[in-house]
Amino acid sequence: GRASAPLAALSQVLRLERSRRTAVVFPLQKLERYLAPGTDTARFRLFQPGLGALQRAEALFRSDCGHAVSYVSSAVRMEHAPPPALPEVCFVGRSNVGKSSLIRALFSLAPEVEVRVSKTPGHTKKMNFFKVGKYFTLVDMPGYGYRAPQDFVEMVEAYLQERHNLKRTFLLVDGVVGLQKTDHIAIEMLEEFGIPYVMVLTKIDRVSSGGLLKNVLKIQEFVKESTQGCFPQLFLVSSVEFSGIHLLRCFVAHVTGNLPIVEAS
Ligand code: GDP
Repeated sequence: GRASAPLAALSQVLRLERSRRTAVVFPLQKLERYLAPGTDTARFRLFQPGLGALQRAEALFRSDCGHAVSYVSSAVRMEHAPPPALPEVCFVGRSNVGKSSLIRALFSLAPEVEVRVSKTPGHTKKMNFFKVGKYFTLVDMPGYGYRAPQDFVEMVEAYLQERHNLKRTFLLVDGVVGLQKTDHIAIEMLEEFGIPYVMVLTKIDRVSSGGLLKNVLKIQEFVKESTQGCFPQLFLVSSVEFSGIHLLRCFVAHVTGNLPIVEAS
């Protein structure tokens, strides 16, 4: 199997010195110190679990003999989707946003899980279903592109409207460039269907703290003014440096009903 990344497990993160540890576990919180004094930071700390909750979430993402994390199947149409037996989350975003890298990072403690990537142009894009023990399923939705948003819209629209076990949609946005025209296609769809979703800013290691904060504030403002279904706190991740991954695992565990009590840090 694949060797897991150096900071894939909380036990490894805990060995870092304090400020580095905060940056890895709570990357959004780290940005607070660049804010003008008096700025309302409520949207930076809505979901801020303590170590106990982070550890319980991590256990779900770690496969062992009694608990399998596995790829289930791929589907092009809804009739081929596995039965909606467990609470489910799905990940959507435009091609190249870092979706496969993020899902790989989330599943890095279950190295036998293979997150497949189909990027061949013209190749049929599929929904990929993963099962996390008896707890929840995670769906990797096809990436939407600039040229053929229609394929995406048809498949994703049907999924979002019909999937009754869907607990939350994670919309990935490139943290380097912020919201793009194509991202608004997904946002409009989620808003129209009244589906609860969360925005995840990817590749944060590729942008300076100043640049990242600028994007964060702009997107926060957009979420506040123009959306109904979006969770007010943004999630920031780097699949390379492993920042935000532990927090995101914890949020997934929470929204799927597997971590009902999340004590604050
Ligand atoms: P997808 O099309 O959304 O599945 O995107 P991928 O996960 O394949 O990533 C697209 C490109 O961005 C690849 O070259 C990745 O190596 C790169 N990438 C993805 N996530 C990160 C990240 O967190 N940091 C950096 N620096 N690069 C990333």
